[in-house]
Amino acid sequence: MKSVFWHLGDKEPDYRSLMKHQQDFVLEGKSIPVARLVICEQTHSNLIHHCREEDCGAGLNNHPQIAVADGFVSNIDNQYLVIRTADCFPVLFFDEQKMVVAAVHSGREGTRQNIAGKAVKAMVEHYSCDPKNIVAHVGAGICEEHYEVSEALWNQFNDSLSRNELCPCTQHYRHLNLRTTIFQQLLKAGLRFINIENHHECTYENPAYFSYRRDKGNNRQINIIGISNE
Ligand SMILES: [Zn+2]
Repeated sequence: MKSVFWHLGDKEPDYRSLMKHQQDFVLEGKSIPVARLVICEQTHSNLIHHCREEDCGAGLNNHPQIAVADGFVSNIDNQYLVIRTADCFPVLFFDEQKMVVAAVHSGREGTRQNIAGKAVKAMVEHYSCDPKNIVAHVGAGICEEHYEVSEALWNQFNDSLSRNELCPCTQHYRHLNLRTTIFQQLLKAGLRFINIENHHECTYENPAYFSYRRDKGNNRQINIIGISNE
């Protein structure tokens, strides 16, 4: 029987130990075979990869990561999409009627370029999903108060939002609110309000998460979604 398995990560298990051991692991009582994970490069693009069976294991052992992508869509059974984050936002999507899942890394650049909206578009155009049936979970990321950027980046981000008829982040000078931007993008993509779940945790404030801005480290949360068929 098919079901959607998803997990928004915190410090345990972490990306560095996953890479070090490259072993199967148990998450929320479910055994996840490392050979069924898919990892993409995450280059702050807005590119979505359409997964195939042979993508399983990408980013593990000697298999290269999926090149130049920050998100992916899959309808392959027992294939698990991994998004790693530390301040950037993970967004996990599923449509249980079509049994399609997607995951994106939505940091400043990905959010500016609407990667969340692009994932919905990929689900609709390539897998015939109805946006009204798509559920999105937006995980932990850095909040507006703790996300200050240069004036140039603030202006560039807000110009892009205004051009796309979204509300810019003008409430707090030189601060960006990626969570409310992603929320607007998901609504604009046709998702229903009640199908968007915001997990309101700030990675910078909460020590249970890795925060690049706070720690300057290279460890990451791992966020996972896939279609389990057992
Ligand atoms: Zn915060």
